[in-house]
Amino acid sequence: MAELRALVAVKRVIDFAVKIRVKPDKMGVVTDGVKHSMNPFCEIAVEEAVRLKEKKLVKEVIAVSCGPTQCQETIRTALAMGADRGIHVEVPAAEADRLGPLQVARVLAKLAEKEKVDLLLLGKQAIDDDCNQTGQMTAGLLDWPQGTFASQVTLEGDKLKVEREIDGGLETLRLKLPAVVTADLRLNEPRYATLPNIMKAKKKKIEVIKPGDLGVDLTSKLSVVSVEDPPQRMAGVKVETTEDLVAKLREIGRI
Ligand code: AMP
Repeated sequence: MAELRALVAVKRVIDFAVKIRVKPDKMGVVTDGVKHSMNPFCEIAVEEAVRLKEKKLVKEVIAVSCGPTQCQETIRTALAMGADRGIHVEVPAAEADRLGPLQVARVLAKLAEKEKVDLLLLGKQAIDDDCNQTGQMTAGLLDWPQGTFASQVTLEGDKLKVEREIDGGLETLRLKLPAVVTADLRLNEPRYATLPNIMKAKKKKIEVIKPGDLGVDLTSKLSVVSVEDPPQRMAGVKVETTEDLVAKLREIGRI
């Protein structure tokens, strides 16, 4: 059953360790000169696809990223982790702000059909917009079954068993392929790309295409009204005794 082809969506986001700053015009966050990396949940998705390939259950892993030229660095990271080739869907930086889950889902759905993939892997969520929608929307557009928040993925014949983390426990689903899976934190621990693999990845192919080549229109019906910093936490008060604490809590209506 090593005939499966996997497409993994990798998003370039501001690195998780960077302190985010809101732009003075409140229309977004500062991205210029800021360190970017692959979205952590996408790393988990790549790792899972590469492990399936190492188990000879998948024959080809394709990494795709939509956005400006720098997305090719993110694709290179996926290639260094073990993906076979990349597709960069180029969207100029000025337009990339308009890329929401629905626009990306349209691109991914078209690519999944074009590349005749059996498995589409995504991160469960991008840490920049926290949308947690792209996988679900792509599955909807393709009318494919979906296993979101996957914490375990096993191939059973022509079906995919997906264990998913839900409130209060684990749910096990059996999906008919082709299917969409989104990776949760506990699915695996992604490997670091080694130097020899980074060197090898430089020779792997990245195809550059435009959304128009797929017949996808990126028009969005959403517009950002304002982006704000979270409210500052108020300073706390020290109390001497439990009675004082109870009195204070009563005062502010918390008990
Ligand atoms: P979101 O729905 O924005 O939280 O993103 C969930 C997942 O969708 C990410 O972890 C990626 O796998 C995929 N995704 C979102 N935006 C992009 C993008 N611009 N390029 C590639 N994959 C993306």
